Amino acid sequence: MTTSAATKLSDGEKLEVLRRLDQFRQWRSLDDKRYCLVCGNLITGRQIQVAGGTRGNGALRLNCPAERCNSIPMDWVLPTDEILAKVEGLAEEERKASALRPPPVIMGNGKAAQTEKSHEHFMSRLRRLASHLKRHGKAVPSNPCGP
Ligand SMILES: [Zn+2]
Repeated sequence: MTTSAATKLSDGEKLEVLRRLDQFRQWRSLDDKRYCLVCGNLITGRQIQVAGGTRGNGALRLNCPAERCNSIPMDWVLPTDEILAKVEGLAEEERKASALRPPPVIMGNGKAAQTEKSHEHFMSRLRRLASHLKRHGKAVPSNPCGP
């Protein structure tokens, strides 16, 4: 939190500052909402942080209340129906994403099972080969790979 840098203003003063520093859109009240294009949050004038100007002559700055968001007033657009739908959609997607988490992939187990399976397969092939050799023992040389 950067509360030490934040400037305490009355509602009227804050609205005045918003109007002065955000010349891109009109502020009718501190409850006006803006959509921050940088962090994707809906913010109200009340939430916007005013920093600087503590000595009376310093320049005031408007900051998005979101953490680590360095947006400027130009990034705050009026939340049109389209924007609101988009925000809703994003929130919905996030909910879905957290609800439909893919099952955890356990490489070790999967690999072990795979090895076990192929090992089994190999053993059954050996057994089949052994029984084949037993049945046709006479036709196969006793030591085909030997010297
Ligand atoms: Zn922001």
